[in-house]
Amino acid sequence: MNKLYGHTPAQLSELVALLGWPSFTASQLTQWLYHAPFVEIKDMSNISKARREILAARFVVGRLVPESSRSSRDGTRKYLFESPEDGAVFEAVSIPDKQRHTLCISSQSGCKRGCTFCMTAQLGAGRNLSVGEILSQYQGIPERDQITNIVFMGMGEPLDNLPNTLAALEILTTVCGLSTRRITVSTIGILPQLEELLNATSVRLALSLHSPFAQERESFLPTETLHPTRDILTLLRDRREDKCRRITIEYIPFAGLNDSPKHAHELIKILRGLMVRVNLIPWNTIPGTHLQSSDPRRVEAFRAELERGGVPATIRTSRGPDIAAACGMLAGVRVPL
Ligand code: SF4
Repeated sequence: MNKLYGHTPAQLSELVALLGWPSFTASQLTQWLYHAPFVEIKDMSNISKARREILAARFVVGRLVPESSRSSRDGTRKYLFESPEDGAVFEAVSIPDKQRHTLCISSQSGCKRGCTFCMTAQLGAGRNLSVGEILSQYQGIPERDQITNIVFMGMGEPLDNLPNTLAALEILTTVCGLSTRRITVSTIGILPQLEELLNATSVRLALSLHSPFAQERESFLPTETLHPTRDILTLLRDRREDKCRRITIEYIPFAGLNDSPKHAHELIKILRGLMVRVNLIPWNTIPGTHLQSSDPRRVEAFRAELERGGVPATIRTSRGPDIAAACGMLAGVRVPL
């Protein structure tokens, strides 16, 4: 059965026009789908009974709630969702902090990009999430009203699911009222989809770099051969209209590999001319890889070197490692409620 949840306002207008109904029915549907507590079509009380029956014969609402969840000692909560149609699993991570409450959501179940430091890669290609599956990770969790920020940093590469990512961003910003300044899309940099994303929305961008040297980056992110860092950075540098967009460079320091002063100096060089901040992400060991996290003192020295070179840099606090909710650890593993 088709699902209403995940339709954009324009798609709902198109639907009611096709049915020959007045245009305000699209606004009523938008309200029921994205502003009300979860209801079925039969409960949409300001739409006539006859119309509800016509809708219910063709559609279900289709908003999902989590299948299970786990809580970390640090307050982080990981939710696992499962598609009732094909059993595809995907996860969202809710991260409360002093001033903000961030929700990390997934765009795919699995990922074909094969990054060596990522558990999601070990699931293989999987499939794209629908718009409704992406939005359910926000609106289907108990603390949805506390969420202040959303990051597309969960399972999958958002640019490999660009149409659904863009539709979800449209609903989050124009219907749910979240500011584009409070949403970040994280990507390893897929061209030309990156340009399409930048043209379509002013949300914040996080680019996974992890090495300033092409050959070494390729050993972490095999996409470097197809989508080289130099082309990605040239695109970002050339976009004068993006002066106000906040761009973060994500960098996981791995012990003895990409955490040397030479790497910091090269990073400073290749980022010259870009208004970016580097976020150094402590890595949590995952099975099936020889990689090891850098010593915290070495990470701090790397950060200080970047700052000396004029590149603002911070070290991210790792959240939820005890429930495999931290960076690179999402793998859709079922756990008891
Ligand atoms: S880091 Fe992102 S792009 Fe790379 S395999 Fe994991 S989910 Fe895919």
